[in-house]
Amino acid sequence: MSDCIFCKIANGEIPSELVYENEYIAAFNDINPSAPVHILVIPKRHVESLNELEDKNLMAELLFGVKEVTKKLGIKDYRTVINTGKGAGQEVFHIHLHIISGRPLKWPPG
Ligand code: 5GP
Ligand code: ZN
Repeated sequence: MSDCIFCKIANGEIPSELVYENEYIAAFNDINPSAPVHILVIPKRHVESLNELEDKNLMAELLFGVKEVTKKLGIKDYRTVINTGKGAGQEVFHIHLHIISGRPLKWPPG
């Protein structure tokens, strides 16, 4: 989508600190990290949120991408978050999986 910030990151129009990519997904550092490690995994094609994601293969690619990133960085303890909808804190309407790590993470979150 032309005015989507994560589409622009996916196609290189907006620079990002890329951590991992393949044919289907890209992973890059969050611009406003909430932990020493805060990475976003996105599909290269535009999907608004988990509510709109119908492609099971892409779903698997996204979660497998989390494993690729954590394996690459040697991270064993991490949190994976998908905020879906404004009421749940979603601010960018191009689906993304947060990978958060590098500090103690309490549960349940605040
Ligand atoms: P949400 O609240 O939608 O789940 O998360 C959006 C995330 O995207 C936030 O953590 C925010 O810091 C990050 N973000 C927003 N704009 C940019 C950007 O232009 N570049 C990067 N790298 N991250 C961004
Ligand atoms: Zn997009």
